[in-house]
Amino acid sequence: MSIVVFEKITDVRAWSEGLSAAGHAVGFVPTMGALHAGHISLINRAKDSGDKVVVSIFVNPTQFNNSSDLANYPRTYDQDLALLKDSGCDVLFFPSVAEIYPKPEKRHWDFGLLSTTLEGYYRPGHFDGMLTVVQKLLEIVKPAHAYFGEKDFQQLSLIRSMVRQEKIPVEIVGCPIIRESDGLAMSSRNMRLKPEQRDDALAINRVLFDIRERTEAALPRELAKEGFNRLKDSKGVVPEYFEIVNARTFEPLEYWPSDDDAVALVAAYVGEIRLIDNMVLKKMALSYS
Ligand code: AMP
Repeated sequence: MSIVVFEKITDVRAWSEGLSAAGHAVGFVPTMGALHAGHISLINRAKDSGDKVVVSIFVNPTQFNNSSDLANYPRTYDQDLALLKDSGCDVLFFPSVAEIYPKPEKRHWDFGLLSTTLEGYYRPGHFDGMLTVVQKLLEIVKPAHAYFGEKDFQQLSLIRSMVRQEKIPVEIVGCPIIRESDGLAMSSRNMRLKPEQRDDALAINRVLFDIRERTEAALPRELAKEGFNRLKDSKGVVPEYFEIVNARTFEPLEYWPSDDDAVALVAAYVGEIRLIDNMVLKKMALSYS
């Protein structure tokens, strides 16, 4: 399969506008590269919808609140390009930092609890940088549809809020988490795990799966505490948070909600690598509401 690579905003915009004018839907998959099957699932979803697909690779410096995380973020351009060619995506947009930020820029976004809890709390400035670049990219590419993974559950909710607030004419499509066969959520950061650390990291998904089995037996508050403690006692894992919140409002849950989903969200360090994962817990335990 052939693929066109654009580095300039004007080129990718002209491509997208040309296709839209000709009646095609453009589907956009923003990434930071180091591509894996999770990213490819977003491309496949876009192709299944009949979109012409553009993937961006841009390691956005303004969303890293930790300079060593930015310096060590995996960059695997040649491998990414080969994967993209196989995936059947049409265009790669691969801009430089100067192309996206001719001058320094970081808008502040306030979506209440959604911006301030969990990742918003533990990674100050991260969501401001992420939303700033997603808004810029959506305005550059002007897609009909943009695809994001539920792996970054809070990010997806914030992007939906931002698009609504800014009235950006795009449909945001959320896509399920893709996991390795042993359950580990795929992530570019997994590449940095040593083999032993990768084994240790499995505690994260195991605890999430176990908790999901127990939603009828216990209250969210108890399960969140249990999840945190189990991770704390796991070899090589240092949990930052394990919370069960309302999947729409992100309010921490005392009781199971009767008309919203609940979601368990976790961030944990394995060595120096910070991993996140989550599990939607459906409206199961109505007896507690
Ligand atoms: P990233 O390159 O990590 O910024 O991710 C780019 C997009 O891929 C985001 O929308 C992520 O939520 C999504 N993504 C990353 N990992 C996964 C996964 N394991 N399953 C599904 N989507 C994912």
